[in-house]
Amino acid sequence: MVKRLGITGGIGSGKTTVCRIFRVLGVPVFVADTVARQLMNGDPAIHDAINAIVGKDLYLSGELDRKELAKIIFNRPELLRMVNAVVHPAVLRMFDRWAERSDAPYVIMEAAILFEARADELVDRVATISAPVEERIARVMGRNDLSREEVIRRINNQLEDEEREDQSYYVINNADNEMIIPEILKIHEDMLRLAERDR
Ligand code: ATP
Repeated sequence: MVKRLGITGGIGSGKTTVCRIFRVLGVPVFVADTVARQLMNGDPAIHDAINAIVGKDLYLSGELDRKELAKIIFNRPELLRMVNAVVHPAVLRMFDRWAERSDAPYVIMEAAILFEARADELVDRVATISAPVEERIARVMGRNDLSREEVIRRINNQLEDEEREDQSYYVINNADNEMIIPEILKIHEDMLRLAERDR
């Protein structure tokens, strides 16, 4: 069966950048966040569930009003948990089906909240991308036009690098001055060996 590598890391750690290199190597990448957004917009059962959880129609424009959803769940973590309990399993089912259909030696799931969503249970190995918090803050502020406080709030909503690293088979240090391509090639070859061994 096709092997599966999970790639995770906090906001601004460089997941997208690292996955771009894996794609160049020919590895199919499933971006969990993108699929979650697609399902929240396009899956009628998920629409109904979200509307039922928040108690109002968030799809008046035809698409999910993400701003309104964020406002409603901002101070209601129990509602966020309920939305996640609908969306996360749906994303994992999509990944499972997508991975099974692939004829590549291995595939990647990229997810910021891989452990939080228990996606680690669906992959053979996990690689965590880590970078110093100050560098992550500067990267995200530069990319998304967010204030320092907004970036820090997002970082604080996720696990810390160390917690992710403790549960990961590989760790890629993506500090600004690190060479990540040799690290990525090592992991790629290692995953190919794993796929070859269990073929
Ligand atoms: P998010 O979870 O927010 O989507 P991410 O983990 O996918 O973030 P990227 O989008 O890959 O992170 O990187 C965030 C920003 O930092 C991008 O603008 C990227 O170009 C830049 N960046 C990534 N790695 C490095 C690096 N080693 N040195 C300098 N800048 C970097």
